[in-house]
Amino acid sequence: MSELLSKVGYGGFFGIVWGALLLRYVLFAGLTFWIVWILLGKKLSHKLIQGKKPDKKKILHEIRYSLLTFFVFALSGIFVAWSQVNGYNLVYDRVSDYGVPYLLLSVVMLILLHDTYFYWTHRMMHHKSLFKHFHLVHHRSTNPSPWAAFSFHPLEAIVEAGIIPLASVIFPLHQTAMFVFFLYMTSLNVLGHLSYELFPSWFLKSPFTNWHNTTTHHNLHHRFFNCNYSLYFNFWDKVMGTNHEKYKQTFEEISSRSSSYEEIGEVTAAEITSKDAAAV
Ligand SMILES: [Zn+2]
Ligand SMILES: [Zn+2]
Repeated sequence: MSELLSKVGYGGFFGIVWGALLLRYVLFAGLTFWIVWILLGKKLSHKLIQGKKPDKKKILHEIRYSLLTFFVFALSGIFVAWSQVNGYNLVYDRVSDYGVPYLLLSVVMLILLHDTYFYWTHRMMHHKSLFKHFHLVHHRSTNPSPWAAFSFHPLEAIVEAGIIPLASVIFPLHQTAMFVFFLYMTSLNVLGHLSYELFPSWFLKSPFTNWHNTTTHHNLHHRFFNCNYSLYFNFWDKVMGTNHEKYKQTFEEISSRSSSYEEIGEVTAAEITSKDAAAV
């Protein structure tokens, strides 16, 4: 990172990071949207979790705020690179400094740290004093599309961007580890907002997979607000008793559907008020 920064300067670095974030968004959210929503939409209509797609206005809202989020994320990238140049964090450039086994371990540590960071910051942003200012923008999508993956108010975007600056002062991080983490995070984030349940019906019954979240899990969070706060793993929701009481039942019902499903009335954004936000 420091090498790139010295070559292109802060302005160039910001532009490259913002462009890369945009490309990542278009590739992951756009491709998923095109394949699942456009190409296979009719075939998979029985797998629509809420029985229908969100309206187009909501999708435009999700894209607008995601583009804004990338400005915040790019600034966070500059902050991490600046910290590295000045020796304020543990970001390193040569893989040989810590070796390949550590590189792989650091990806796992980053994912585990982010899972905990996300759960607790997410619950914090659901506190009634913070919800409207930080998190309401994301919850405008009560039936989200893949484009909602980065649809955050700039204040929430600052919180979400905090994971790399935090991790980089706790343990050594190479840019390859960050890159792999970003691929995993973006894939799971897009999958969580897919609106179609594509996980197999045995997923929550098997001890090999039931520790991982599904699309239904995050979709229920967008619909009911005060449950299912976790991102990748079901660990913190289980420990804190915050899983939706009918999560497993709902997942099994949707994932085993084989025919069209009746429409469910969408909760409108107008119904969203800070009183809906669950207190920590
Ligand atoms: Zn969401
Ligand atoms: Zn939330």
